[in-house]
Order: sequence, then structure tokens, then C-alpha cells
Amino acid sequence: MNVFLIGSGGREHALAWKLAASPLLKKLYAAPGNPGIAAHAELVALDIDDHDAVAAFCRNRRIDLVVVGPEAPLVAGLADTLRAAGIAVFGPSAAAAQLEGSKGFTKDLCDRHAIPTAAYRRFNNAPKAKAYLREKGAPIVIKADGLAAGKGVTVAMTLAEALEAVDACFEGAFGAAGAELVIEDFLEGEEASFFCLCDGTTALPFGTAQDHKRVGEGDTGPNTGGMGAYSPAAVMTPDLVEATMRTIIEPTMRGLAEAGTPFSGVLYAGLMLTRDGPKLIEYNVRFGDPECQVLLMRLEDDLLVLLKAAADGQLAPMSARWRDEAALTVVMAARGYPGTPEKGSQIAGLEAAAGEGVEIFHAGTAQVDGGLVAAGGRVLNVTALGASVAEARERAYAAVDRIDWPGGFCRRDIGWRAIARETHDG
Ligand code: AMP
Repeated sequence: MNVFLIGSGGREHALAWKLAASPLLKKLYAAPGNPGIAAHAELVALDIDDHDAVAAFCRNRRIDLVVVGPEAPLVAGLADTLRAAGIAVFGPSAAAAQLEGSKGFTKDLCDRHAIPTAAYRRFNNAPKAKAYLREKGAPIVIKADGLAAGKGVTVAMTLAEALEAVDACFEGAFGAAGAELVIEDFLEGEEASFFCLCDGTTALPFGTAQDHKRVGEGDTGPNTGGMGAYSPAAVMTPDLVEATMRTIIEPTMRGLAEAGTPFSGVLYAGLMLTRDGPKLIEYNVRFGDPECQVLLMRLEDDLLVLLKAAADGQLAPMSARWRDEAALTVVMAARGYPGTPEKGSQIAGLEAAAGEGVEIFHAGTAQVDGGLVAAGGRVLNVTALGASVAEARERAYAAVDRIDWPGGFCRRDIGWRAIARETHDG
């Protein structure tokens, strides 16, 4: 099969690495790609916002499957254009991608199908939103409706903070994404990520993970795209997986199919494990980054077979087998992240740092004059397998310590929650 991968981050490097391991792969292309992806794929200079150009490329190169990594092209309808041109694609239509593209859309769907989630109201103006906040009080959560690169959510612990978040949103802090907002009740519990591959009707459970969003150790400081992750999330017991499938994933799949907008691709549920059971915090319509990296390290089966089956509506007879080991990834970021990361610092020693059960995925690197430099905020994902999360963590940090990159930093406590649990249970 000829496969075309869209995206340029650590998630897409992990996808490229795993797709390249498939005996069914003839040729892998990627756009925009990155220096890590280039080890597995031919990088193509193509504007991925130009959907017709992407479709033309697929026809010329006889592409059998397009794999879309990030959410933005999906929300913009890339999968629709490709499907209309008869090209198989892993990723949802624009209509189904509203699960991520509009918080209000997802909350209304939950409401119609009695899917457990925080109680909510939608607003398109500040006075009404503020009146509701004064009635409800804090803690409370304010969310810009649209895609805001992970920055549109304020968990307000005081009423003042909540009122400020409403003003910021309607004053344009998130651009068009903030023209509407959702206010929802604050949920208490532990968070976990749950993934399913979907083909429109069937949802195949595809692993669990937990991540660390804050930049600082002890989960402190500003939010980031994610500073590390591990899989599996032991907190997601088989009972919780069953409850999540029954009360959240399956009604979502049914609801979208009944509405004429079936979901295919990867459905990523952000869950709050509350005393009353799992509740949906949010949906994403693509793999998490860096959760994808740890999931794929653990996947035993052929990823290409699974993604093609999802694209073709053929998931029902499939299963996914996983290694017994845990996987953990440490994100190395450029100094200054998540503010303004310093670009251009030299990175060396990656070959020496990788090894058996250790993969270093490129998230934001560039090749300049034959050397590797930092070219983004999150730059490397140092990912390792181990018999336990604790062992995976040890191996990941041993690899981190062999990387020669004075311009980078990472958190030193990735996995602390799972390791505390392992120590307690063990
Ligand atoms: P979201 O982008 O919707 O996943 O929200 C980002 C983060 O905000 C989540 O990962 C949670 O940590 C937090 N959050 C979102 N909604 C709630 C809620 N209703 N209650 C408590 N925390 C929340």
C-alpha cells in the first residue's frame, strides 16, 4: 500500500515509525513531515490546506490510504474532499469532527443521548454568561466553543476568575473560537484518556493513557500541549473501560450515525473518573500528542491493517493486541516553552541515546547545515518500554540524560501518579 501521512509533530513521527514497520507498506509519503519522519517517509512539499491539491497528489501517486494526524485539517473538511474523490482516509468528516471543533456540539449530543458529562449551558454574550456564573458560583469551568489550540479552557476556582474568563473570551482572546462559550460544572476526580478506533459503526477500544499538561514538576505552572504521558493508565480498570464503552462511546457512535454523520477515525475521550463513574470532559477526533507515542510503542498488531480497516468500515472482526509492558514518554521542550521557545539551539547524541525499547520521536526539530536544531516548543519525545511504568520511566530518563541539548528542558516526574499507584499496589 502507498500511504500518505499528514502532519509534522511527534504524534506523526510515531505514526510513521509504526506504519513503516508494516509488511504491507510499499511507500510512505508525508507532508509537511519533520526530520524524524523523513527517516521513514518521502517528505512532500504540498500545502495541506489546499484539499484539491492533496486529492490530486493522492491520485497521481496511487495512494491507498491517507492518515490525518492533527485535528485542524479534519475540522476543515480534508477527509470529505478525499472521500468524495474515492480516496480512503483515516479520519472523520468535518461534520463528525465537530466533536472536537465545537464544545457546544458535543455537550448537546451528550444531552440528547444521556451521556454522562458535566451539566452545562451555552452562551453567545457576556451579560447572560455572567448572570449564570453569579447564580452558580465557583469552582466552575469556562470553555471557548471552538478550536483554541488547547488554550480555551479556564478552570476558575473563584467567581472573579470566571468573570474574567468570560470577558477574555468575548473580547477575542481565542478569535472566532470564542464567539460562543460553554459554562459547565466543575468535576472532581482523576483524569484519564481513552482511545477507540472507529469505522462509522464499530468502536474498537485502543488503549488508555494519562498525560501531564502543566509545564512544572508536581503538575504546577502554565498549561502546555503535554509534557509527558504513559500507557496503560492503570486507573482505567476493565470495569471502567466497560462503563465508558457502554455509557459514553457507544451512544456517541449511535447518535452520530443516526444523525447521518457517522464517526470514523480515532475517537479520543478525555474522562473524569468521578465517584459517580466516568464522565466525558471532552472529545478529540485524533490521537493525543504525546499519548499516541506511548500507545504505538505498546501496539503489537500492524497499525496499517487497523487504520485501513477503520477507513473501509471493516473494524468489526478486528482486535488490537498489546504488549504487556508499559510505555512512558518524556517531552523535551526548548527553553522558554510554553511562552516563547528559543529556536535554533543544537541537538546532538540522539543515536547514542536510542536503543532497544527506546524511541526518540521528533516533535519540533529542523535539519540546518547538516545538524539538528530545535524548531518549536515541544522538540523531542523520549519514549521507552518497561516491565512497569517505573521501569519505563527509568529507561526514558536514562536516554534523556544521554542527549546533548543544553537548550532543552524536561519535567523529571513524568508518571508520578502511576508509579505511586504501582508502589502502593506492589
Ligand atoms: P478540555 O480542553 O475540555 O479537555 O479541558 C482542559 C482541561 O481542563 C482538562 O484536561 C481538565 O483538566 C480541565 N477541565 C475541563 N473541564 C473540566 C470540568 N468540567 N471539571 C474539572 N476540570 C475540567
